[in-house]
Amino acid sequence: MNLRKKAVLAAGTLLRRDFRAIAGAFGGGERGGLAVLNDRLVKARRLLPEYDAACAAALKGSGALASMEDFRRLPLMGRAELAAYSGRGALASLKSGGTGSAGHVETRLDTGAVAARYAALLAVLETAGWRMGDKTAALHPREYAFFENLPARLAAGKFGGALFEFFQQYLLYRLVHNRKNVYYGGGIFSSPEAALALAEAAASERPVLLITRPDALMAVLRALRGRALPGFDRLKAVLTVGTALGDTVRAEAQERLGAEAFNMYASTELGYVALSCPRSNGWLHADQAGHILERAGDGELVCTDLDNALAPVLRYRTGDIGELAEGACACGTRGPLLKFRGRKDRFTDAAGGRLYEAELIDRVFGTGLPFFQLDAASSSILLPPGAGEKEAAAVREALGLLPGAYGAVGAGNLKISASGKFCFLP
Ligand SMILES: [Zn+2]
Repeated sequence: MNLRKKAVLAAGTLLRRDFRAIAGAFGGGERGGLAVLNDRLVKARRLLPEYDAACAAALKGSGALASMEDFRRLPLMGRAELAAYSGRGALASLKSGGTGSAGHVETRLDTGAVAARYAALLAVLETAGWRMGDKTAALHPREYAFFENLPARLAAGKFGGALFEFFQQYLLYRLVHNRKNVYYGGGIFSSPEAALALAEAAASERPVLLITRPDALMAVLRALRGRALPGFDRLKAVLTVGTALGDTVRAEAQERLGAEAFNMYASTELGYVALSCPRSNGWLHADQAGHILERAGDGELVCTDLDNALAPVLRYRTGDIGELAEGACACGTRGPLLKFRGRKDRFTDAAGGRLYEAELIDRVFGTGLPFFQLDAASSSILLPPGAGEKEAAAVREALGLLPGAYGAVGAGNLKISASGKFCFLP
């Protein structure tokens, strides 16, 4: 074991006794059980009066959970509950990206939860074949650049947050992990030249691991089509997180970049929830030790983070649609599996099929169409500059859109979220 890893494990163990177990394998450690759930529930009810009243009604006056059936009776939490927690005692207060109109939500974590998340991240990276100190390139939207955000944070008096992120980005990731952030702007989704420049900047780092959102990966792969690869000669794996990943994108990344592709389901609110394996074929292994995943009647994923003792996240509506399955993966691991299909937004095709973003991507990614968006608010197909009715017609055909839907065309005004995310269904 290398020295950096030894030092990190030793430091982590000072923060959490089970740090090594969590870092040792994704889904490792033992953090659940009714006692833990009851502890989180007591805390949440004490801090959130409205939630407390809803729990009392759901549990018919009983204060504690006697079984997992009781747990499944608890009211669902949403962003309002998370926003109602006070910020006291948090080591880290993380602001989510906020896709589309959903807005930001802050997640407050104490030291134990931060340590659990960091240990889980180490397990994720090692599953992807990375070893401590291996060169990593992480593609980041400019909106996340530390020094870009620093003046506003300091002006708002958020010194603790700024210091925490400086530690994370520059001391831990840069120096200890050997990770280099490569920043991009929203232009990569409308300009192939900008996407190619991003691909070249990432390749020039000669990374062993590439971490990226699926949206930026799509832009990079599209820009590289029909060209000689600009390097990536040492690349072993691509790790994606943050938006829906189509199977077609995963396949093209593996073939084109010669690297194994790993997809992760994670969020600011919940941490690292699920991770694919090379045999799982679009499904992801759920982290059974630290999370409880459920599926609401409409297909929405509902998730509990067992590690958050400060501002408990219990049966939280994720706003994401997915499938859950129980059983054995081809790799031999048993346990819950997740297939993430996209945000709740969907479109309907002419055959009446309700499709989410992952399926939309698979219908268009291989076609060579430019990036576009189906904007339900204006019933328009939004396109990059220079594209017009001809491209819109090709989009309609590729997707088999409902006749009359998305009739209008808007050029040059792709909507990029405040966190720099591109979604086909903004
Ligand atoms: Zn597997």
